[in-house]
Amino acid sequence: MRLILLGPPGAGKGTQAQHLVARYGLVQFSTGDMLRAAVKAGTVIGRQAQDIMARGALVPDDVVVSIVEQRIGEPDARKGFILDGFPRTVPQAEALDRMLRRHGLALDAVIELKVDEAALIRRIESRIAEMTARGEALRPDDNPDVLHRRLAAYREQTAPLIAYYRRHGMLRSVDGMAPIPKVARQIEAALADAATTLKEPPASPRPASAPKPPIGKKSKAGSKSRSKGRAGTRARPAGKAKAQAKPKSGPKSKARPRKRRR
Ligand code: AMP
Repeated sequence: MRLILLGPPGAGKGTQAQHLVARYGLVQFSTGDMLRAAVKAGTVIGRQAQDIMARGALVPDDVVVSIVEQRIGEPDARKGFILDGFPRTVPQAEALDRMLRRHGLALDAVIELKVDEAALIRRIESRIAEMTARGEALRPDDNPDVLHRRLAAYREQTAPLIAYYRRHGMLRSVDGMAPIPKVARQIEAALADAATTLKEPPASPRPASAPKPPIGKKSKAGSKSRSKGRAGTRARPAGKAKAQAKPKSGPKSKARPRKRRR
């Protein structure tokens, strides 16, 4: 199984990733952890990333894409993996699609941890205050100012991935504000649902914006071929692609998501 955990900083991606590692024997790839290790080791990437991370901005796409590409090629990745903190931009998601395709792999699901930002800020600020009071070491980016910048980076650069993966039929959203065990149960249910959905044949015509099936495969309505999405993602069965399947001339046609520029 290969999945992405998507959500703002402090939403609990790391905690849930650990649960999934224990539950399904997957490997967790956290780009934040990889970058922090690079900073600690003083590598070229670490030196490039250090200041950027400390101010809560995003490290350039090509840097993170290269470390993920390298990690995905390692033998333990064959067990399946959870991407935690990657992708964080649409170009990173597109690069991930290409790299998965090169490795002959596909994603199974993208789990979005939905959170209330104001409640999240209160939660993180009180955690930071408690850690400080106990004299515990904080990460350089664990302070309220940087947190606000990291949240802004999420809203501007990462949140568009929600629409990106929804279009690809990969997105499953869970309530990230629920207690940890409840979030874990919701994620397990979402993964079970994703596995079932991927096995279902498409129920209605492929949306116009969906990728063409591989040459030699049926593409008409009712075809049992399980179409793959853009590189590395599996397309949602067309019957579930509500927004995309609307007729062009319908009254709500203006509300249709814009086609992604290539
Ligand atoms: P995290 O531990 O996932 O919150 O990441 C900590 C910091 O590492 C982020 O605030 C970014 O500066 C950097 N970072 C981690 N993952 C990425 C990524 N996929 N793209 C760009 N920067 C990243």
